[in-house]
Amino acid sequence: MSDNQKTYLVLPHFQAGLLSPEDLEQLAHLARKYQIPKTKITGAQRVAFLGMEPEALEALKVEMQIPETPPHTRNRVHYVQACPGSTWCQFGQGDALGLGELIKQIELEGPLPYKVKVGISGCRFCCCESWIRDVGLTAEKKGWRFSFGGNGAGRPRIGDLVAEGLSDDEAMALVTKTLNYYLHTAKFKTRSARFMERFGIEALQKAVLG
Ligand code: SF4
Repeated sequence: MSDNQKTYLVLPHFQAGLLSPEDLEQLAHLARKYQIPKTKITGAQRVAFLGMEPEALEALKVEMQIPETPPHTRNRVHYVQACPGSTWCQFGQGDALGLGELIKQIELEGPLPYKVKVGISGCRFCCCESWIRDVGLTAEKKGWRFSFGGNGAGRPRIGDLVAEGLSDDEAMALVTKTLNYYLHTAKFKTRSARFMERFGIEALQKAVLG
């Protein structure tokens, strides 16, 4: 809640910036119904309603069936950003949206220690800033490059390169294995960047590769 006691709500339904005509119609309907002052696409490619009265926020949560438990406390990644990739961009060398869909479905072995943000870029231009995401995937001619432990916040960090030349299936498997290792090894509320500073890339590679 901000200083003026108005609230905001990031809608968990829309990931990777993908919106169908039906989604747009629903958003327009809700924005009018609840008189939402501002609707915004966030930096994380999600949709946020800004400046809502608290009563409107509660009613909207009920209508949209938004749970009180934030997504990052479940056994899933917090959010996935993905660029248009090889399906929609002339520079794309990998299907970033397709891989994003798969990663959204990953079921882990337990709750993650803290938020895990995923950035998937379809080529080295890295439009989804993969190097500063907890999980970064960037497509190259030879396959996906996977980095772990990036962060763009108050103590920014470039992620460590875990492996490269990965197929979609290999990338999925390695991301899953790495996140399971992270959730079993890191202390609660330790972001992947801080975990990797202490743990080190060699130890992680030893644990998850081979
Ligand atoms: S990262 Fe590459 S493929 Fe993705 S939108 Fe940017 S230029 Fe296109």
